[in-house]
Amino acid sequence: MTSTPETQWVALRGRLQEISALVSAADLLEWDQLTYMPSGGAGARGQQLATLQRLAHEKLIDPTLGLLLDTLEAATAQQDAASDEPAILREVRRRYERAIKAPPAFTAEVAEHLAASYDAWAVARPANDFGLVRPFLEKTLDYSRRYADFFPGYAHVADPLIDVGDHGMTVATIRPCFAALRQQLAPLVKQISDQTPPDDRCLYQPFAEDKQIAFGEQIITAFGYDFERGRQDRSPHPFSTRIGAGDVRITTRIYPNDLAQGLFSTLHEAGHAMYEQGVDPALAGTLADEGVSMAVHESQSRLWENLVGRSWPFWNHHYPQLQSIFPEQLGKVSLDTFYRAVNKVQRSLIRTDADEVTYNLHVIIRFELEQALLEGSLAVADLPDAWRAAYAEALGIAPPDDRDGVLQDVHWYAGLIGGSFQGYTLGNILSAQFYAEAVRAHPEIPAEIGGGKFNTLHGWLREQIYRHGSKFTTAELLQRITGGPLRLEPYLAYLTGKYGQIYELT
Ligand code: ZN
Repeated sequence: MTSTPETQWVALRGRLQEISALVSAADLLEWDQLTYMPSGGAGARGQQLATLQRLAHEKLIDPTLGLLLDTLEAATAQQDAASDEPAILREVRRRYERAIKAPPAFTAEVAEHLAASYDAWAVARPANDFGLVRPFLEKTLDYSRRYADFFPGYAHVADPLIDVGDHGMTVATIRPCFAALRQQLAPLVKQISDQTPPDDRCLYQPFAEDKQIAFGEQIITAFGYDFERGRQDRSPHPFSTRIGAGDVRITTRIYPNDLAQGLFSTLHEAGHAMYEQGVDPALAGTLADEGVSMAVHESQSRLWENLVGRSWPFWNHHYPQLQSIFPEQLGKVSLDTFYRAVNKVQRSLIRTDADEVTYNLHVIIRFELEQALLEGSLAVADLPDAWRAAYAEALGIAPPDDRDGVLQDVHWYAGLIGGSFQGYTLGNILSAQFYAEAVRAHPEIPAEIGGGKFNTLHGWLREQIYRHGSKFTTAELLQRITGGPLRLEPYLAYLTGKYGQIYELT
């Protein structure tokens, strides 16, 4: 058979579809594991997942896939780089190179180590015993450095680790940005902390769980989350997962005595899922059919959760309805009190409970500690003390124990060190940059939100971000949308404007 670029595209597409199918099957098993699987299924499920992931990996590192890429890259060299085919090739090439550079034996060894490390952490955290995980963490740090060394030529040892989730981002670009953000946030946090904290007791009353779920689902339907191509279930840790172009699911966590937790986690995960639901169907099954980076993904969840879902216009419209659903609990609580309650700023020890203003300080602390560990200027043995010192300096509080300190997040105990946190804060920064651009293009957006309408904003995000999947890197997307690089100013203007008003700062 003669081989033309057309037949080679068919061959490539077929292989990518197979990889996608295996990954999606694993994702569905994982979704089931985290939602409905009986605990007795854990052993078999672990084996099933490992098998599917191994098969997908084997298909990705197949040398003949590399040959197909070589030929097709040459054949499309003259095409517009922004069109689908070169973009798909770039994304597949990136994944292929990353997968072949770390030897399979190393990858398997790390996976086995991380599984043991996670088990140790699951015991160490409730026992408040850092000593239990310390040898595991030392080994993880060693593996993290060795992983980076498979990608020689990096400027900083963390760059290859950051590249996994946030392709194109480096320590050199993130560090000055985070340092500037930290410097600007410190006085804002201090000013706010000097005020009387808002009374948020209205959020902590008995709220019927089915009514909480129904209200959240009504809001995300209005946002544009498509229940014909998705569903919401409950899980201990909320997440979103894409099983296919027509099946992007979310989960939420509902508390009977806490209204904000469930609602805002639903809005957050819907933001992630709407991004995935909005990818151009032409990219389906090509590996370029998912959100491009942790940072852009988090920008979408945060945009819907915070910039929309915690805004004054949003609650001005929706609060009377919420009051009519919960008349006993909220009937006598004013809109102003409720709005201030859902935007309460408080210096706290736990990242996942943190508000919009202090959240980034938690992330920046972790990012800086990761760099220090990787650079060798901080030893694992000294990490708990370094953690306490960093919290005391940045937030003015220090955890009394390691359970609420260095042991609180699973990330370092279940994955490599160096690339797992930056995306949260980059996402916050991007959320404001994108939103400012959307409002510049459509100044009616805030008024529409105040009228319970979201289609102009959703349509703009779909057109500018969602449909592209992974066709453009984070930096390329930013350039196309804003005409420039990552900028802190819109985010700082958003935070100081909103919280200056809530806390009557001058
Ligand atoms: Zn998220």
